[in-house]
Amino acid sequence: MSKTQTPLRFKLVVPGILSILMLLSVMLLGCGKEEQGTMEEQSMMEEQSMMEEQSMMNVETIEWKMVTTWPKDFPGLGTGANNLAESITLMSGGRLNVTVYGGGELVGPLETFDAVSRGTAEMGHGGAYYWKGKAPAAQFFTSVPFGLTAQEMNGWIYYGGGLELWERIYEPFNLIPLAAGNTGVQMGGWFNKKIDSVDDLKGLKMRLPGLGGEVLKRLKGTPVLLPGGEIFTALETGAIDATEWVGPYNDLAFGFYKIAKYYYYPGWHEPGSTMESIVNKDAFNALPDDLQKIVRIAAQAANLDMLSEFTARNNQALDTLVNKHNVQVLKFPDSVLRKLAEVSDLVLLEESKRDDLSKEVYDSFIKFRSQTKPWHKISEQAYLNARSK
Ligand code: CA
Repeated sequence: MSKTQTPLRFKLVVPGILSILMLLSVMLLGCGKEEQGTMEEQSMMEEQSMMEEQSMMNVETIEWKMVTTWPKDFPGLGTGANNLAESITLMSGGRLNVTVYGGGELVGPLETFDAVSRGTAEMGHGGAYYWKGKAPAAQFFTSVPFGLTAQEMNGWIYYGGGLELWERIYEPFNLIPLAAGNTGVQMGGWFNKKIDSVDDLKGLKMRLPGLGGEVLKRLKGTPVLLPGGEIFTALETGAIDATEWVGPYNDLAFGFYKIAKYYYYPGWHEPGSTMESIVNKDAFNALPDDLQKIVRIAAQAANLDMLSEFTARNNQALDTLVNKHNVQVLKFPDSVLRKLAEVSDLVLLEESKRDDLSKEVYDSFIKFRSQTKPWHKISEQAYLNARSK
């Protein structure tokens, strides 16, 4: 990788020429070969031809590694990271080439934050609540119990002061945060006994990470922390009584319907989990302005894309769970939800006292939630209620 100075005019003209060449090569590749090769092959050919063009023209190519907290190609989450990397590579005409590593390939899944912070990798993909041990306020940027929906999270992050606060949390770690995906409202989880009252949560051993787990603990349940790959066996052997994971799309893939009878909603503990991409600040600052913008815009596109994918695939998967596998979908009783909400608010308030920045983030988050509530009551909520009648 050459770090030599490139004349400004060359820098401006070359990307333009490259775009035209790329477009031509894509058009030529498409001619008369409609049925040949998969989209993946075509994308690899596009990338290869870009690289060849660049080496011929001696354009600087920057290589970035993206480490992730997900198993490689994990549906929705891992593939979301792949999409982001591919968008950056293609939108930059190959000048910024991002290679994705699944959790454990380059560094362990939960070493992502440190690896990008010290520059072992330039970029990462995961969830901010994994880093609450390093920065307690970070968990507000994935999801908190009775927090914001996906749409509201985006409103807070992009236009409600959220992003500036998030950037300040990651500043000491030499990281830049970007919202890069959202699962939408998750499901409440899989149970083998009915939850008719708050008493049914007593003694319940449930895989429920983060602050949701803390809420369960206050109601005399036992939250258990387990990575995704270990949940099925734990539930099957009775090591845990219940579990949450994501939503119909991911839960169907894990086959929980084979060992649990009841599928409860709503996912009060994760109402709109934002996924993050983190970028090493030095690596980001070393990019020219156009590549910096490409990274930011690609993350925004990935944020939209993942939510869209989950919205579409959850619908299909729910239909399969209910109509093919006869899963019983049940709503938590209102009395249980009221109690969960009450305890959640107490837990959030306690989190706000961890440090000054947590207090600032909490204040901003709660203010946004209180302001969006009356608006969504007469917009989204009112409309969805009206449609369901
Ligand atoms: Ca979850």
